[in-house]
Amino acid sequence: MKFSKYFIPTLINSPSEAEIISHKLMLRAGMIKQSSAGIYSWLPIGLKVLKKIEQIVREEQNNAGAIEILMPTIQSADIWIKSGRYKEYGKEMLRIQDRSGREMLYGPTNEELVTEIFQAHINSYKDLPKNLYHIQWKFRDEIRPRFGVMRGREFLMKDNYSFDINKENAVISYNNMFKAYVKSFLRMDLTPISLRADSGQIGGDLSHEFQILAKTGESTLYFDKELESIDPQNIDPKKLQNYYAVVDEMFDKKNCPISEEKLKISKGIEVGHIFYFGTKYSKPLNAFVQNQNGEKVEVHMGSYGIGISRLVGAIIEAHHDEKGIIWPESVAPFKLSLINLMPENDECIKICNSLYNSLKSNDEILYDDRIVSIGKKLSDNELIGIPHQIIIGKNTLKDKLYEIKNRKTNKIIKLSLEETMNYVGKIF
Ligand code: ATP
Ligand code: MG
Repeated sequence: MKFSKYFIPTLINSPSEAEIISHKLMLRAGMIKQSSAGIYSWLPIGLKVLKKIEQIVREEQNNAGAIEILMPTIQSADIWIKSGRYKEYGKEMLRIQDRSGREMLYGPTNEELVTEIFQAHINSYKDLPKNLYHIQWKFRDEIRPRFGVMRGREFLMKDNYSFDINKENAVISYNNMFKAYVKSFLRMDLTPISLRADSGQIGGDLSHEFQILAKTGESTLYFDKELESIDPQNIDPKKLQNYYAVVDEMFDKKNCPISEEKLKISKGIEVGHIFYFGTKYSKPLNAFVQNQNGEKVEVHMGSYGIGISRLVGAIIEAHHDEKGIIWPESVAPFKLSLINLMPENDECIKICNSLYNSLKSNDEILYDDRIVSIGKKLSDNELIGIPHQIIIGKNTLKDKLYEIKNRKTNKIIKLSLEETMNYVGKIF
């Protein structure tokens, strides 16, 4: 992608409305544009990152046996009245009337809708377990939308719902999702800490919250150090659930079961939440199946949410420096940028074009061919956080060397054309 033909409206200063670093950097890097309180348009590189996060989550859901569907954003009030949540949800729910006066709403979550789908099509224990997910926009009229996409009113969530014949099997589905969550966050270079949580609004009796570590996080976590070094090849949900981990309100020094040396205190951001809630929705919404003895039993359900759009901000909170964003490779808008420092010099243009053309089929490359100052070029590339940057300028013309900068380590190495091609080959 040629920068000059693309659309990355970077800003030098951070807009005054932004309080936290991820919000500032997302605005400065031209990733989002606020449209009204807690509601954003996603500009090209913001959208690219959002899609990459979405895809990682999708792959891990599919790997875990969940099945993708897509439910609408607008729901009828009827099912919510049946489940008893229409009143309970209060002002956070955006309520709408259609032209014939029917009560509708913009879905804040989908337990009712998915249960209705299940109820209509699944009747036998032989079809269980089932686990359905979708990645869809939600609306919650939060009292205080803030921190950019971290607490929006409209936000993208992956939510899935498991259906099992009994509690024992439902816990297997729950742990299966627990594992998929840990895997998904590890793939984004995040450190997930799982905490036993209140089941809150959704209700139920088993629940975990997933927080990721970030110096600038909102909550303070107290946890066993070992949780920081999870082996991605060997994720054992039961073992992870046994480690000590609590938020500061729950921490009690006197009753803390682990030693001070083992205890770590860090800031975190909630990015996911999972629940087992038994028959809370299957009962009022008549989601029965026939068991082996031909008896009707209510299915046991769980629901699982990941804040996809919140993750864009959370990853930045975890990965940035004073110059800007440092994207983990798995979610970077581009893996590589090709920076022409002399965009008006014919020879330099020739070298850049030839390198770019040999790599062109790859939409992971941003070619910065803009006619702007060297300072602006370098600082924009740092700001938007491209992991690998090939800098082409005077030195390349003089001694045929390409400067390759690693955004994370800030190290620059000089390579010949052949070595550069090898380096690039390893990135993709
Ligand atoms: P919170 O306590 O932060 O309000 P929640 O308990 O209401 O979260 P869930 O209903 O469990 O959240 O939703 C699942 C996930 O969706 C959360 O873990 C979070 O990542 C994301 N999420 C929830 N509310 C918002 C929001 N207003 N903006 C962005 N993401 C959100
Ligand atoms: Mg909430």
